[in-house]
Amino acid sequence: MRRHVIPLIAEAAPRPAWPAGMPLDQLQRPLRDLRISVTDRCNFRCSYCMPKEVFGKDYPYLPHGALLSFEEIARLARLFVAQGVRKIRLTGGEPLLRKNVEHLVEKLAALRTPDGRPLDLTLTTNGSLLARKAAGLKAAGLHRVTVSLDGLDDAVFRRMNDVDFPVDDVLRGIDAARAAGLGPIKVNMVVKRGVNEQQILPMARHFRGSGVVLRFIEYMDVGATNGWRMDEVLPSAEVVARLSAELPLVALAPTAPGETAERWGYADAAGRHDPAAGEIGVIGSVTQAFCRDCNRARLSTEGQLYLCLFASRGHDLRSLLRGGATDARIADAIAGIWQGRSDRYSELRGAGAAPAPQARRIEMSYIGG
Ligand code: SAM
Ligand code: SF4
Ligand code: SF4
Repeated sequence: MRRHVIPLIAEAAPRPAWPAGMPLDQLQRPLRDLRISVTDRCNFRCSYCMPKEVFGKDYPYLPHGALLSFEEIARLARLFVAQGVRKIRLTGGEPLLRKNVEHLVEKLAALRTPDGRPLDLTLTTNGSLLARKAAGLKAAGLHRVTVSLDGLDDAVFRRMNDVDFPVDDVLRGIDAARAAGLGPIKVNMVVKRGVNEQQILPMARHFRGSGVVLRFIEYMDVGATNGWRMDEVLPSAEVVARLSAELPLVALAPTAPGETAERWGYADAAGRHDPAAGEIGVIGSVTQAFCRDCNRARLSTEGQLYLCLFASRGHDLRSLLRGGATDARIADAIAGIWQGRSDRYSELRGAGAAPAPQARRIEMSYIGG
C-alpha cells in the first residue's frame, strides 16, 4: 500500500495574501468556512457516529432552550462573514429534523460578503427527508446539498444506518434535490473496512456520468463513542487504486485552497479527463492530513465555537449573545478566538504526536461534519 508523506506546516510553501483586516490564525490560516450544527438529534444511528448503545432512548440531548434560535444563528453568521467566512454549511445531527430549518436558510441566503456577494450556502443531510424538503429548501435560497450514503445495496445500507432505513428513499431524495436545482450534488460515503468496502465500485458505477460527485471518506477517530480502530480504516489511496483498476482515473487540480477532497476525474480512452463521466473525490482525513490549509470553524447547536473537529473544548458564544454583547464585542471575540488557533490534530496524529484519546470528547453528531 502506498504510504503518504505528511509535510509539517512549518515546511509548507507560502500561501496567497489574505485581505487586510481579516483575522489569520497562529498558522496564518484565514477563516473561510463555517459549519453550523442546528440539532444534535438524528433519525439514523450510523455506528461510526451515533452508535445505538450510546445514543439510546435515555440519551440526554440538548433541551430546546439551549439551542441557538434562528435569529441568534443568523446574527452570528453575519458577524462571521465580516471576519472572512464565505461558505456556510448547515449540519447536525440531522439538520432536516430541525423544525422550519427553511426559515434559517432564508436568513442566511440574505447575507452578503463585504464586497456584496452571496455566500456559498450548503447543507449536509442523510437524505431521509430530502424528497419532501428539497423544493422548499431551494425556494428558501439553499444552493446545494451533500448527501451521506454509505452503500447502494439495501441490506448494507440498512446495516450502516442501523435503523433499517431503505436506500431507495435516499436515492429518491437525491433525485428530488437534483430536480429542485440543488446542485452540484455531492454524495459522501464513509468507508469502513470489512463493513461496506464492497460498495465502493457499485457506488462509483451508479453515480458515474450522473453529475453527482461521489466522495469517499476515511472512517475517522472523531468523538469517543464509536470504538474506532485503525484496522477499520480503508486508506483513500487504496480506494483510488481499487477504482482505477476498473474505471481509469486521472488526478485533477484542487478547485479551492483548503479543499478537503483530493479530486480524480474519470478518464476517456485517450487517458484524459472525460467531463461527461464526471469525477470522484477522496477525503483522506486519517492517512493524508490536510490541516495546513484548514480554514473551517464549527458552531455547535448550543453556540459553542470549535476550531477543530478534534477539539476537546469550545468557546461559548451563546453567553455573549444572551448577555447583551454588542456586535462589535462579539466580532472582536470571534477574531480573537481565531487568532489564537493553532489546531492541527490530523497532522500531529500522522506524525505520531496526537493528544491522548480521552482528552477528546466532542461527538460528530454534536459538532457536525
Ligand atoms: N446527518 C447528516 C449526514 O449524515 O450527512 C449531517 C451530519 S453528519 C455528522 C456529517 C458527516 O459526517 C456525514 O457525511 C457522516 O458520514 C460524517 N461522519 C460522521 N462520523 C464520521 C466518522 N467517524 N468518520 C468519518 N465521517 C464521519
Ligand atoms: Fe446521523 Fe449523520 Fe451521524 Fe449518521 S452520520 S448518525 S445520519 S448525524
Ligand atoms: Fe482542520 Fe482539525 Fe481536521 Fe486538521 S484535524 S483539518 S485542523 S479540523
